[in-house]
Amino acid sequence: MSPDQLQVKAPSGTRDVLPPESSRWQALIARFATAANNAGYGMIQGPMFEDIEVFQRVGEATDVVRKEMYVFEDRGGRTLALRPEGTAGVVRAFVQHRPTTPWKVWYAAPNFRYERPQAGRYRQHHQLGIEAIGTDDPDIDVEVISIAHDLYRSVGLTRVSLLLNSLGDSVCRPTYDQALKDHLEARREDLCDEHRERAMDNPLRVLDCKKKACRDATRDAPRIVDHLCEECKAHFERVQEGLSALDIDFIIESRLVRGLDYYTRTTFEFQASEIDAAQSAIGGGGRYDKLAESLGGPATPGIGFGSGIERVLLAADGEGVFPAPEDRIDVFVVDTTGGTAARDITSELRRAGRRADRAFDGRSMKAQMKAADKSGARTVVIVGEDEVAAGEVTVRDLTTKEQRRIPRSALVEELSQ
Ligand SMILES: [Zn+2]
Ligand SMILES: [Zn+2]
Repeated sequence: MSPDQLQVKAPSGTRDVLPPESSRWQALIARFATAANNAGYGMIQGPMFEDIEVFQRVGEATDVVRKEMYVFEDRGGRTLALRPEGTAGVVRAFVQHRPTTPWKVWYAAPNFRYERPQAGRYRQHHQLGIEAIGTDDPDIDVEVISIAHDLYRSVGLTRVSLLLNSLGDSVCRPTYDQALKDHLEARREDLCDEHRERAMDNPLRVLDCKKKACRDATRDAPRIVDHLCEECKAHFERVQEGLSALDIDFIIESRLVRGLDYYTRTTFEFQASEIDAAQSAIGGGGRYDKLAESLGGPATPGIGFGSGIERVLLAADGEGVFPAPEDRIDVFVVDTTGGTAARDITSELRRAGRRADRAFDGRSMKAQMKAADKSGARTVVIVGEDEVAAGEVTVRDLTTKEQRRIPRSALVEELSQ
C-alpha cells in the first residue's frame, strides 16, 4: 500500500476547522454566548446522541427523521441517534429535570444529518441556538427573534430578511389543514412525484416543497394567517407589534412551515441574500407548544431558534464583514542560551496574564527572530549569553525598533503594565 492509501481522512461531508479560520468561529460563538447571557439564558451542554425515540416522537413524518438521521445500536443493544437538530434534546432535558420556568438556555453544538454532501452543506454542521420553555407570552417570541436579529446585525450582516408566519394551534390548524387538503386534492395531478402520493399525510409539507410543480400548484393556496382563531391571531399580532417596536423588519410568508412537524403558532426564518437560494436560510425557529407533552412531560409551551455557524460565516463572507480577529500574541521570547530562560519567562508572563510564546528545538537566533515576526508580537525579549551573565534581558519593540536592557527581575512587572 502506498502511504497515500494509508492516510486516513475526515469522513465525507465533514471538515476540519483549523486556525486561523477557527478564530472566527470562536469569536462568533463568544458573541452569541454574551448576547444570550445578557438576556438571561444559561448554557446547556447535553448529549450529542439520544434514544432514537426522542427524535421519532417529535418528527416521524419529517425527512430529517425518516431519511437523514444517523442511527446506531450501541454495545448494550440500545438504539440511539446522533442529534439531527437541537430542540428535541433540550426539551427532553426539560422534561427530565423539570426546572422552574421560564427556562431559558443556549447552546453551541453540532447536528448530524446524512445528506448528499454539497457546498455549504455538511453531515456535521454546527448550530448556535436558544430555547425558552414554559411561557406562551408572545413577548418571548419577540425576545427570541430579536436575539437572532441583533446577533446578525452585530456581525455586520445587513442583507438579511426575516420571514414570519403563524402555523396556528390545535383549535384553528385542523380547519386550515382541511382547506389546504381540499385545495391540493383538486390539484393532485399537478403536484411533484413525491407529493402526488403523500400530500395528504402532511399537506403543510407541500407548501415547503421546492419543486416547481408544487410551487405552482400552491401559488393561490389558502393562507394559514387567514384561518387563525382569535387567540392565535392576537398572539401573532402582538409578535408583529413587538418586532415593529424594536425596529425589526419582517415579511409575512405564508409558505414558511419549516422542516419539522412540531411547530405551532410563530415560525420564522432569516434568509441572507448573499448565499444561493437553496441554502439562504441562516437561522430560524418557532414555537413548539406541544413538544414537551409528546416527550412525556406536562403540557408546556416553548420557543427557540437555531442558526448554522457555517451559514452565518458564509453570509458574512458574501458581505465582506466579520473578518477573522487577529490572534496575535503580546511577547515573543528569543533565547539563544538553551531554552531555560524562554521556558521560565513565557510561563511567568502567561501567569501575569500576557500572551507569550517562544520557539523550540534550540533554533538559531535568526530563525527565532523570524518566528517572532510571524507571531505578530510587538515586543521581543532577547536572552543571549551576555544578558544571562549580566542578569539582564534585552527588550525590543518590533514596531519602533527601539531596544533596551533591563534587569531580568524587573521584566515581568515591566511587561505587565
Ligand atoms: Zn412537492
Ligand atoms: Zn388558533
